[in-house]
Amino acid sequence: MADRVVAVVGSGQAGFQVAASLHQEGFAGRVVLIGDEPVPPYQRPPLSKTYLAGEAGVDELWLRPSEFYAKQHIELVCGDAVTGIDRVERRLSLASGLQMSWDHLVFATGARYRPLRVPGSELDGVLPLRTLADANTLRQRLNEARDVVVVGAGFIGLEFASVAMARGANVHILEITHHPMGRVVSQTVARFFTEAHIRWGAEFSLGTGVARILGEGGRVAAVETTDGRRLSADLVLICIGVIPNTELAGAAGLPVDNGIVVDEHLVTSDPAIFAIGDCANFPTPFAGGRVRLESVQNAVDQGRCVAARLAGRPEPYEKVPWFWSDQGDLKLQIAGITVGHDQSVVRGEPASRSFSVFCYRAGRLIGVESVNRTSDHVAARRMLAGEPRLAPEQAADLDYDLRAHIRGSARH
Ligand SMILES: Cc1cc2nc3c(=O)[nH]c(=O)nc-3n(C[C@H](O)[C@H](O)[C@H](O)COP(=O)(O)OP(=O)(O)OC[C@H]3O[C@@H](n4cnc5c(N)ncnc54)[C@H](O)[C@@H]3O)c2cc1C
Repeated sequence: MADRVVAVVGSGQAGFQVAASLHQEGFAGRVVLIGDEPVPPYQRPPLSKTYLAGEAGVDELWLRPSEFYAKQHIELVCGDAVTGIDRVERRLSLASGLQMSWDHLVFATGARYRPLRVPGSELDGVLPLRTLADANTLRQRLNEARDVVVVGAGFIGLEFASVAMARGANVHILEITHHPMGRVVSQTVARFFTEAHIRWGAEFSLGTGVARILGEGGRVAAVETTDGRRLSADLVLICIGVIPNTELAGAAGLPVDNGIVVDEHLVTSDPAIFAIGDCANFPTPFAGGRVRLESVQNAVDQGRCVAARLAGRPEPYEKVPWFWSDQGDLKLQIAGITVGHDQSVVRGEPASRSFSVFCYRAGRLIGVESVNRTSDHVAARRMLAGEPRLAPEQAADLDYDLRAHIRGSARH
């Protein structure tokens, strides 16, 4: 079996992890890691945080130094896209014209930014934030930007907004729903972060979209909102979500439904093909069904899971999902999936800027959102990994010791 070939399509966080873990797991075959970006694997989270703020340099983004790949016998291909997959012949083709055979193939193709389809969205200064190249452009444009409009108040939009304000720009945030980050956090946390951004100087227009973008000499000059206002802008960030990169898998005849559909072992309908990270739609007990997650934890743990399986140690994927977001001096950490909760209790005081929201569904703890309270987050991850029987009254009681609860020695 020493000559088995694993081809990994996509060299982001998930693709990097499966390749790195294969060798740690003792896999003896060839590992080929193919990425269409012209750079080695890097971390995306700093692109909207320290890197954008100019507090981290590019050297701090690389997942490993360039020598790592040769040392680990990972054949890294940068700047070449996989353009076709032949499942019968077990071959793939690259944009450069090269072809290669594989025995196992891992889709780690991630997601791309979702464009805003309105008149004027092609103007210079209307920008996305997904890649290192995007972040380099934005970092430079923020040097001159005075009036910034952020379209979409998700995590990345709000992180960008906090950096833009810290760099002296006036920031106006447009959000089509009435709840920033509303897709994934409780109303308590959404409200808390909205108020924080307003204190830092942001203006919000909730329930408001973009009618068109106006330019002067090819450059963005203003955004016209769906309620007829005109907001001055010399930089517009479009942050309205992502589209999973599933076209290759779909063209190869694999089922796709908001991501490449996989089973609990992250295997597609073809037993030789896996999908992991942002491009994968998988079943998890934490969502009570199928989900596609966009997080570093998910990319890393799914990469490890597939590597272990290829090395002969198959286990179903059932890791507790967790996520973080840094905005200004606030760290939000989420354990579990809180969407769909029907009860929530707050531990600590939002006014003290250190609190957690414990979210329950049908009396069962399903997730915890913590603001500047890492100890609650760590405890929550451990509880969710086991039997999360924490009563709402215990969660809300600051004197109730969560660590002792996990050890089974808390006073009741
Ligand atoms: C600005 C930003 C900030 C973020 N902050 C956080 C955070 O704070 N916390 C957190 O948990 N998560 C965060 N995330 C999300 C996290 O970075 C992603 O969930 C993670 O990168 C997903 O890894 P992935 O490998 O699945 O996808 P990606 O990182 O998107 O990598 C996929 C790679 O595959 C390449 N590719 C696609 N198709 C092909 C092809 N046909 N051939 C070759 N290559 C191909 C893509 O170009 C890309 O390089 C952030 C994301 C962004 C963009």
